[in-house]
This record gives sequence, C-alpha cells and structure tokens, in this order.
Amino acid sequence: MCWKLSKSPLVEKLYCAPGNAGIFRVAELVNINAEDIDNLVRFAREKQIDLTIVGPELPLSLGIVDRFETEKLRIFGPTKAAAEIEYSKAYAKQFMRKHHIPTASFMVFEDMKEAITFVRSAGMPIVIKADGLAAGKGVTVARSAEEAEATIRDMMQKRQFGEAGARVVVEHFMTGEEASVFAFTDGKNILTTIASQDHKRVGNGDSGPNTGGMGAYAPVPFVSEKILKDIHDLVLEPAVHGLAEEGRPFKGVLFAGLMMTERGPKVIEFNCRLGDPETQVILPLLKNDFAQLVSSAVDGTLDSETLEWEDAYAVCVVMTSGGYPGNYQKGREINGLRDIKDQDALVFHAGTKFENRRFFTNGGRVLGVTAVDEHIDNAVAKAYETVERIRFEDRHFRTDIAYKAGSKKFKFSY
Ligand code: AMP
Repeated sequence: MCWKLSKSPLVEKLYCAPGNAGIFRVAELVNINAEDIDNLVRFAREKQIDLTIVGPELPLSLGIVDRFETEKLRIFGPTKAAAEIEYSKAYAKQFMRKHHIPTASFMVFEDMKEAITFVRSAGMPIVIKADGLAAGKGVTVARSAEEAEATIRDMMQKRQFGEAGARVVVEHFMTGEEASVFAFTDGKNILTTIASQDHKRVGNGDSGPNTGGMGAYAPVPFVSEKILKDIHDLVLEPAVHGLAEEGRPFKGVLFAGLMMTERGPKVIEFNCRLGDPETQVILPLLKNDFAQLVSSAVDGTLDSETLEWEDAYAVCVVMTSGGYPGNYQKGREINGLRDIKDQDALVFHAGTKFENRRFFTNGGRVLGVTAVDEHIDNAVAKAYETVERIRFEDRHFRTDIAYKAGSKKFKFSY
C-alpha cells in the first residue's frame, strides 16, 4: 500500500507506523505500534494528517476507525462493528446465513463437549475454525474424528489461539479451486477487483500446514468475467448491503476468500482489509491512483471511480524462515537485496529488520517478491530469478507458485 501510495501525485508526505525495513524506502517510519490508538490519534493531530489508511486487522478490531471518526480525523477502513465480519467467524457465518450469501453449512459451539460429540458423528473431512483472529492459522481440515477432537481440544481447552478459541465454528468441507476477490466500498457503491489466488499451504503441491500465505498471482484465468459478476452479485453486494442494513455500514476493502465449487462460488471467509499476499499482486496491476480511490471511498463518492487494470499478470513468491509456520530462527542476515531493481521485481518486506546497515530476518514470512509481465510464464520466471538472488540461511519458498494458472485441468464451469 505504501509503495502504491508513493506513486500518487496526490500524496505529499507519507508516514507509516510502525512500518518496516522495506517501507522505509517510500515512507517516513513512525515508531508507534499499529494497536496504539491513543498515540496514533495524537500523531495524526500533531502532523495534521489528511488521511489515515489502516493496514492490519487488529487495530480495526480494536475500533481505530470509530475513534478517528469521533476525533474528526479522516480514515479508511471499517468500524469495529463492520470489521466483526473478519474477527468473528461465528458472526460472519451467521451473517451469511441470514443474508443468503453462499457458504459452507456450519455449527457454532461454545461448549467443548458438544463440539466433540458433534464431530464424532459427523462425516469426514470436516473443517474446524477458531472464532477469533489467529493470523491465518486458526483453521484445520480434519480427516478423522480423532483429529477433529484433538483440534477442538487444542483450541477450546488448551487455548492454542488464546481467547480466539473460546468459540469454534465447525463447517462442511468444500471442494474446488480457491480464489480471492476484493471490493472497494464506501458502504453503498462497490468496486470489485480482478481475482487472485493465494497458496496457503507451506509446501509444493499444496502440502503441509496452512500459513499466512506462501504466494499469489493475478488475474486468475479460471475466474471468468461471468464468475466475477456472480461473485459481485451473490457475495459482495449482499454483504455490503447486508452490513448497512444491520447498522454496520462497511467502508474500506471487503475481501472475500472463495471456493469455486461445482455449485458456484462460496465464501470461505471474509477479511476486512487488503489481505496478504493477494494485495502484493493486485496493487501492482491496478492502474488507478490508489490515494484517489481511497479518498473517494472515505467521502462516499466511489460511484465516480472505475477500476482499471494493466493487461498483465503479477506473481508473488513469499520467502519464509525455514520451519515456519512452526518454530523458526530469526536474525539471519539477508543478502542480495540491494542489487534488485524495481524493473526486476518488487520486493515487499514482512518479517525483516534493518540494523547496522544490514538486513536481517525477523519473522516467519520474510519477503514477498512480485514480478509483472504480459505472459504468466515470464512473470513466474522473473519472480523466481529475483528470489534466487535473495539469500539467507534456512530460507524457504514454494517453487510452484501460479502452477494452476496455465493448467487446462482447472478450466471451470458450474
Ligand atoms: P480461512 O482462514 O477461513 O480462509 O481458511 C484457511 C484455509 O482453509 C482456506 O484457504 C481453505 O484452504 C481451507 N478451508 C477453510 N474452510 C474450508 C471449507 N469449508 N472447506 C474446505 N476448505 C476450507
């Protein structure tokens, strides 16, 4: 987002709190945490910030937008009530049921014994989700009743994800291809983006545990214009209008994670922001001035905008610390970053640190490397050429990002 904003002639000065070693190239870093709402308000006042854009879900769930609006500060993002569509999966599922938005059938449990009794007699596989925020890791597809039971115990009894596991959603397992679609909305008008596809599993061929995302590409060839229109009509529009009806008007980016099933697109989850790593392939293809777009959403004038896209593909490969999403080491020096030019690929930082003029790893997902080209194969090749040049001990990345894009097998209709 900072990279895209830095290209806008409307942006005179860009600050990022707290930012990271990559954002440092395009914005002035401010040493305030994203959850420290009091100090963010103070900073916005002091610097007379014209517009604040919220990146992560945690401050949204803490009500940063409500607070800024009370203080008459312009801010882009949903209120706490609207953001519940992401931070409570139980709320999101009940909302979808009420507004006839296609999604897997489900049950919500607050009592562990009841949840266990239910899964013992349920068909397998079955999907178990912690209700609250769990950094993309609170979902298990259980293949046996034993695994389902152990997952429920980990979440509800051992509190593996803390209070996020006080309630669980148990839902029907859906099959199909996954895709993500964003909607920019001012609460009334909705601009739907092109589709992208994340790669959630840590290993090639979608093996191993779920992660925050190992890579993405856009657009997704099997999400045709017609399917995109269905996603708009059946999912995004009823969601935005439904939230408004419930007195929780949603301003910001509503993100739908979808399963393309034989019976049409169904929602896996909603996010209330520009999710990652899809954003790293969507924004490089977006021709619009991002600052203008966001500003129109805040002012309720999105009907004056249309989204325009580069006629190209973007591919993002995420580089992680070996061991992630389990235990991993931090503090490994990263080499090769300095020689990379934006024409080669865009390098977006996640878990990095800059110390004594050197870069170090500082998290599980370390970097996202995005390349753009008219041909998907070239975009893939360019992304991997750059990835190969970035070295740190124990680095890991999938070598098959976008493998489904070219495959005839995934031509899809319903
Ligand atoms: P979520 O965090 O809800 O997006 O779920 C993470 C991942 O778990 C998704 O990207 C899917 O791969 C998988 N998943 C979640 N819900 C279901 C479901 N009902 N059926 C099949 N797979 C699912």
